Amino acid sequence: MLKELLKELQLTATKLVAVTKTHPVADIEALYQEGQRRFGENRPKEMAEKHPLLPADVEWHFIGHLQSSNVKYIAPFVSMIHSVESLSLLQEINRQAAKHGRVIPCLLQFKIAREESKYGLDLPGAQALLGLDAFRQMENIQIAGVMGMATFTEDEEQVRKEFRQLKQYFETLRADFFQNDSGFCEISMGMSGDYKIAIEEGSTMVRIGSLLFGR
Ligand SMILES: *Cc1c(COP(=O)(O)O)cnc(C)c1O
Repeated sequence: MLKELLKELQLTATKLVAVTKTHPVADIEALYQEGQRRFGENRPKEMAEKHPLLPADVEWHFIGHLQSSNVKYIAPFVSMIHSVESLSLLQEINRQAAKHGRVIPCLLQFKIAREESKYGLDLPGAQALLGLDAFRQMENIQIAGVMGMATFTEDEEQVRKEFRQLKQYFETLRADFFQNDSGFCEISMGMSGDYKIAIEEGSTMVRIGSLLFGR
């Protein structure tokens, strides 16, 4: 499955985060052997336990809800945090990154879905955050783009609308805050059920789990 998927993504230069949450290290190793290097996990401790068991060139992407108290488990090695939605979380990431002499790329997570259960910022909230002095003073984080999850629905037009919305948020923030910053470049959207739509709407990074593992 990985090969076919990568071929499909290659056409649009979309990056794949293979989501391996709840899967054992052996499953990650199998994908690694096939050439995959970018892996996504959604629990800090699970990620921290898997990390030393895999080669150093693995990129670890944190994609789940992150509590400030858990940042310390992943700060030494995480490649990107997709799920930043508050100043206080960003400050803790900055603090922990500084401890390790690192700059950690972060995505701002937006709530684009209808479901109440999904986390994230809205556009005014993100604009307010990025305008703060407290934000500008942080030297150990890089805002690398945006992330969002669409509503879990069969209604493709609804999903498309939500992805289009996220892309618009990205463009607005880029124009307002990141004009001279090529590091602000990622739109993380699309999962097993909706990645084709996400790519059509401008995704640069899809996060795919069940499709790779058949469950
Ligand atoms: C689990 C998860 C995914 C992958 O979902 P699949 O439907 O298994 O592809 C993507 N993003 C986030 C945030 C997830 O928690």
